[in-house]
Amino acid sequence: MIDGIRERLLVQPGRAAGIRDRDPADRLGLDGKEESQELVDTLILELRGLQERLWAEARRSLLVVLQGLDTSGKDGTIRHVFHGVNPQGCRVASFKVPTVTELAHDYLWRVHAVCPARGEIGIFNRSHYEDLLVVRVKKLVPRAVWRRRYRHVRELERILAEEGTTIVKVFLHISPGEQRERLQARLDDPEKRWKFRAADLEDRALWDAYTDAYEDALTKTSTAWAPWYVVPADRKWVRNAAVASLLVETLRELDPQFPEPAEDMSGIVVE
Ligand code: ADP
Repeated sequence: MIDGIRERLLVQPGRAAGIRDRDPADRLGLDGKEESQELVDTLILELRGLQERLWAEARRSLLVVLQGLDTSGKDGTIRHVFHGVNPQGCRVASFKVPTVTELAHDYLWRVHAVCPARGEIGIFNRSHYEDLLVVRVKKLVPRAVWRRRYRHVRELERILAEEGTTIVKVFLHISPGEQRERLQARLDDPEKRWKFRAADLEDRALWDAYTDAYEDALTKTSTAWAPWYVVPADRKWVRNAAVASLLVETLRELDPQFPEPAEDMSGIVVE
């Protein structure tokens, strides 16, 4: 466990996120890759046990929102941090450019439909925040429309929280230099090339506008019931240790319990 991880990475509700003042290459006090891997392995085991109890208890759920610019490591985080978790009871939802059907509804329709059921861990690979981020940067809707969405999102998340979903929102924070290396690596490696889209370069050119949009979104929607954490993500091993620590600390606090059997089973022998 990285000590005090939540306090260190939290965007304090009511205060500026200050993304530009945070270091994407921060090691969070970890020595190196090996030490970090040991820590992640231990945390993954604990996460597995906590998830089993959450699933058995079947009363509450956990929603993990992953956001970040292209190549920030959303897919890699899911692969590394959740690989020990029982797929039954865990679901990943990826949010792409909305389909015609999705566009025929309000922008939260597709989101609410895939929120985790009681007992589940839901992982959002991108999320409703795209409707406050890409939509703003690419001017897909007028300013007046995206501006009121901060309030919508706070309110949707409050409903979810009050109804039993614990929400952890993670912004994977990378530097422009690290993104350049990762995009180039995608181009150079035939096995990674499928991940590269020409549009990634258009988005990269809009780095400052995206950073402004993230700064506002994190500042305006980090709440006591759905806090944002800014995870330094230039080093993948720091990122994995940080996200695993955040989730384990959150679930420890939830402390899900195996349910008591409905009837007294003492003395029952299976022949
Ligand atoms: P990823 O980059 O997540 O691995 P894709 O390459 O398919 O997957 O990218 C998904 C794209 O969909 C991103 O560019 C993202 O900004 C876009 N997107 C997601 N949600 C929305 C939305 N609500 N409106 C417009 N674009 C969106």
